[in-house]
Amino acid sequence: MKVTEHITNADKTLFSLEIIPPKKGDSIKNLFAQIDPLMEFKPPFIDVTYHREEYVYKERENGLLEKRSIKKRPGTVGICAAIQNHYQIDAVPHIICGGFSKEETENALIDLNFLGIDNVLALRGDNIKSEREFNPEPDGNAYASDLVEQISAMNKGEYLDDELQNAIPSNFCIGVAGYPEKHFEAPNMNFDLKWLKKKVELGAEYIVTQMFFDNKAYFKFVDDCRAIGINVPIIPGIKPVAVKRHLTILPNIFKIDLPDELEQEITKCKDNAAVKELGIEWGIQQCRELVDKGAPVIHFYSMGKSDAIHRIAKEFF
Ligand code: FAD
Repeated sequence: MKVTEHITNADKTLFSLEIIPPKKGDSIKNLFAQIDPLMEFKPPFIDVTYHREEYVYKERENGLLEKRSIKKRPGTVGICAAIQNHYQIDAVPHIICGGFSKEETENALIDLNFLGIDNVLALRGDNIKSEREFNPEPDGNAYASDLVEQISAMNKGEYLDDELQNAIPSNFCIGVAGYPEKHFEAPNMNFDLKWLKKKVELGAEYIVTQMFFDNKAYFKFVDDCRAIGINVPIIPGIKPVAVKRHLTILPNIFKIDLPDELEQEITKCKDNAAVKELGIEWGIQQCRELVDKGAPVIHFYSMGKSDAIHRIAKEFF
């Protein structure tokens, strides 16, 4: 079922989560052990992130170059299929522009369609380590809006091969990312919102936000979106802080701000156990306001951990 149908059918805020594929060599059982405790909150869908393939070339003794993947978290599509089989709930694979030509994207979407996956989160992806800035593949999508356009075309039965006759349309529900504190590359918020609106005009049916720790940023973002005619559901993304290192890691990686008050409280914590308790309390306060004000879904970024999310979710779901 589509994410948007889950939202339309619900009479209260829903619980959902994002998981990351385990590191190469780990088992699906360990992943299920992470998800199992959260099933009591009846997530209608679970997102699975995609981690881009990156290669290094090593010279062998015979002088030939060996191409080695340094991808540490493969398996997005397999995990989505496993989740749908095991839990009978919808899995939402993230698909990215980076590393894919349009034809490779089309082929990946055909796989997802055959697996009975109804939803995708369409993203651009970031630059790989060897690049200073994001570079699309030759004949790849450069922006998430291009990817949305491609998926929307497939939903109309328009594949890349013009000569294909009577192609069966796919029927993906397309989600996209939104940034309450602005995407780091956008020169200003209006610019970012303009392109977000474009993604919606081209077929995105809902938005999931980057994590934020100050609800004011989310509510302003929703108001600003509505003011320019973005009327699709906007799902807030929540991540409980859990360790002191989050003070620097989260702003560095996700280009978000931690409010002064949260930063000061984390600094005062004597150890990570105290940070975790603070993160749970902060998360509960954030969720209370989001639920009270009618957020359609609260989407938790699990990043491999589920116990803090469980403590927060049991207050509401
Ligand atoms: P876009 O919407 O393409 O925007 C990128 C930048 O370009 C923005 O600054 C925007 O304002 C600007 N822009 C957009 N369109 C145009 C245009 N046509 N012309 C000029 N400028 C334009 N990354 C992964 O690799 N794997 C994941 O699984 C993943 N999951 C994510 C889930 C969520 C909910 C979020 C919020 C992010 C996720 N990311 C993931 C990270 C994401 O790939 C990065 O944030 C990336 O830098 C931007 O992706 P986007 O889809 O928002 O890009």
